[in-house]
Amino acid sequence: MSSDERLPASTPRLFVDQPLGLGAAIVLPTPASHFLATVMRLNPGDAVRLFDDRTGEWLGRVDGGTRKALGIRIEAQLGVRETVPDLWLCAAPLKRGRIDWVAEKACELGVARLVPVLTARTVVDKLNLDRLRAHMIEAAEQCGRTALPEMSETLTLAALLRDWPADRTLIFADETGGAPFTEAARPGPTAILIGPEGGFTPAERDAVRAVQGSIGVSLGPRILRADTAAAVSVGLWQALAGDWN
Ligand code: SAM
Repeated sequence: MSSDERLPASTPRLFVDQPLGLGAAIVLPTPASHFLATVMRLNPGDAVRLFDDRTGEWLGRVDGGTRKALGIRIEAQLGVRETVPDLWLCAAPLKRGRIDWVAEKACELGVARLVPVLTARTVVDKLNLDRLRAHMIEAAEQCGRTALPEMSETLTLAALLRDWPADRTLIFADETGGAPFTEAARPGPTAILIGPEGGFTPAERDAVRAVQGSIGVSLGPRILRADTAAAVSVGLWQALAGDWN
């Protein structure tokens, strides 16, 4: 039996932003140390699953240190760093709670890159990317991802569309109507573009549709909230063309 199968489901799983390797002795940062030592009450010799978004997932054992700087010795490799489909989610920033939810779902649903896109009707302009990354890390720890979604810098729609890669399909969720999603979803480099609560302007719609490889799609006869549209679109694409089959 692999060391993975012997681990209880309750074994804590954490992201560490440092390269891991067999036999390595690492010291966890204070927040992770506090969580394991004080919240999870781990003792020396107890197991923890660690992944680093570089080398994969590893089995570690608590080995010395303090509640603020816990020592971990890496005992075995549990898995390699995953490969997720090359899917970008390009979404207009939303009010705080909602964009945080979009970041969390983007990670769980297997998005490779999250791209915040400022459009004419975007309400939010200052976006805390570190906060969004933190939500994606927490989601990855929960859902078992070993590769974190890339957190792109915030772009204007014009900057996003400029020099659009010819090999990347741009699926544009158009609330005024478009092709059925099934006609747009195909394996290969893809981006899904979701507008803000106020939707896209006619000029923005024309600019997106002018991009080679862009396809306007309908998400049905009802107007979805932007966060709903983001999650539904990524799920549909994963089921039709991604890694859910
Ligand atoms: N203010 C717009 C309106 O009333 O028509 C609604 C915008 S909607 C809240 C936010 C974004 O979600 C849209 O820009 C679009 O990208 C996506 N969306 C929502 N419902 C959709 C639908 N039925 N078909 C395609 N996209 C949709």
